[in-house]
Amino acid sequence: MKYYAGIDIGGTTVKIGMLDETGRLLSKWEIPTRKGENGQLFIKDIAGEIKGYVEGNETIRQSGLNGVGIGIPGPVLPDGYVEICVNLAVRELYPARLLSELLGGVPARVANDANVAALGEMWQGAGKGHDSICMVTLGTGVGGGIVNEGRIVSGMHGAGGEIGHLRVEENESERCNCGGYGCLEQYTSATGIVRVAKRNLEASNEPSRMRDIAYLSAKDVCDLAKEGDALALRSLSYSMDRLAYVLSHIALIMDPQVFVIGGGVSKAGSLLTDMIREAMGSYQSIVDVSRYDIVLAKLGNDAGIYGAARLMLSD
Ligand SMILES: [Zn+2]
Repeated sequence: MKYYAGIDIGGTTVKIGMLDETGRLLSKWEIPTRKGENGQLFIKDIAGEIKGYVEGNETIRQSGLNGVGIGIPGPVLPDGYVEICVNLAVRELYPARLLSELLGGVPARVANDANVAALGEMWQGAGKGHDSICMVTLGTGVGGGIVNEGRIVSGMHGAGGEIGHLRVEENESERCNCGGYGCLEQYTSATGIVRVAKRNLEASNEPSRMRDIAYLSAKDVCDLAKEGDALALRSLSYSMDRLAYVLSHIALIMDPQVFVIGGGVSKAGSLLTDMIREAMGSYQSIVDVSRYDIVLAKLGNDAGIYGAARLMLSD
């Protein structure tokens, strides 16, 4: 049996998972992300945690750890170079190389966290049994990950799978976090769903229970849509329509088996996948939409540690 560590580095915590080659999660835990020294601190912490676990585990200590995969919230170049990662206060770092050195040469690989989550869902989650999936994570932003025939499509500049920044509106006056205008993220992220709803509220006097909520959240919009609030329903279906527009194009580029919808917003459940499926059918006519699985993510916050470990199983 081979053993791998899967590391998911976030802005506040680092999730660490120990898995075997069959995808069984043996143990998982979290440590705070200690920023500073251009990433040296949290990489050292991770190395210490892994060493500690291996020393305390008779089986892995005997057989040796076979590899460590890392997911990181920023663009990663094909050679593992991270030019900039704002959330981690990191510039010009080779995180996998550094971690491998600290672990005495254990092989390590790094990839973007959204891509890694998609790989995790493909391996042990909603895409299990398939090898080509497109995943979108609807959280504060819109993350995207594409796995084609078992391999992450991260591209030559680390921009592969950046679905959240595909332009879906021509006439947008507000700027996206990326500097562009009209990005999917501006309509379909948790923040985007609220933004769309507020615009709709301001545009009319139509009654809606959303008007009674002081600090409207994406969950409020989804909950009220489910309860039949017409304006909430229209807002949310517009947000999902923009996502469906993008997915219908991706369908004609990579033609995956499965579209996986994850992130906090996906807790709203089948209402979202139903809306997406219905809208997708109107944007492309080459493949019948019923032939794609459009499903909710299964692994939640663990997708990253599964996917990071799975990185080490790709050739
Ligand atoms: Zn953008």
